[in-house]
Amino acid sequence: MIVFDSVSKTYDGVSKALDNFSLEVIEGEILVLLGSSGSGKSTALRMINRLVEPTAGKILFEGKDLNNKDPIVLRRSIGYVVQGVGLLPHMTVEENITIVPRLLNWSREKLEIRCKELLELVRLPSSSKKKFPDELSGGQQQRVGVARALAADPSYLLMDEPFGALDAITRDILQREFLELKQRLGKTVVFVTHDIVEALVLSDRIAVLHDGRLEQIGTKNDLFENPKTDFVKSLFAKTAKQLSIFKDYL
Ligand code: ADP
Ligand code: MG
Repeated sequence: MIVFDSVSKTYDGVSKALDNFSLEVIEGEILVLLGSSGSGKSTALRMINRLVEPTAGKILFEGKDLNNKDPIVLRRSIGYVVQGVGLLPHMTVEENITIVPRLLNWSREKLEIRCKELLELVRLPSSSKKKFPDELSGGQQQRVGVARALAADPSYLLMDEPFGALDAITRDILQREFLELKQRLGKTVVFVTHDIVEALVLSDRIAVLHDGRLEQIGTKNDLFENPKTDFVKSLFAKTAKQLSIFKDYL
């Protein structure tokens, strides 16, 4: 479990990217951080692997203060899918996928077996391992990003708008595959998006962020049926209205 306890982050000493932010990430869930651009989603996510340090408050990771964990060890035990793919262009797919296992000094044989498994897992042909990122489509690159995050079999996955740059059809396919993968692998996932439909499709629970503050956290039913703030109310009311338009066509 990961616990944010009254966490704040100030970058320039004035405006708060995160403001007294508290929540718990429960073992095995997909928790979606939902909010518009600049609401503090990436800041919150990147605190979990210590790429960003809180200005105030603390974070507990499996019961222990995150500050006491070595950031390098931590990052090798948490999968991270970066906003906008983030593959290294001069490395092949195989090299990209096995970055963390290589840092962990896995044997050549073990690396080869793992690469093959991972390509199957994210449904890429085994021939793609020798290709470079720019030889792949956006969707294929994103599959490589997911494979890389899963490489050392971490218990936690952090995903920052991983499907944001894809066309709608590819995004639908990858979302569906990701849900299947999640069911099979049983990871704990913190997933950042600004897309409310994506949040509804993927989440066990949704945390709504607005101006660095947590507006509400709950299941999609909680948020639809019992919105606690005007912001959440209008966000979900608008979506319910849009979805009801489509109902007439189904
Ligand atoms: P989101 O991921 O929801 O778009 P971010 O967490 O990236 O939001 O940013 C939250 C706020 O913090 C924004 O106002 C952003 O401009 C600011 N911010 C983020 N990173 C930095 C940084 N490295 N330096 C200064 N301000 C930053
Ligand atoms: Mg962001």
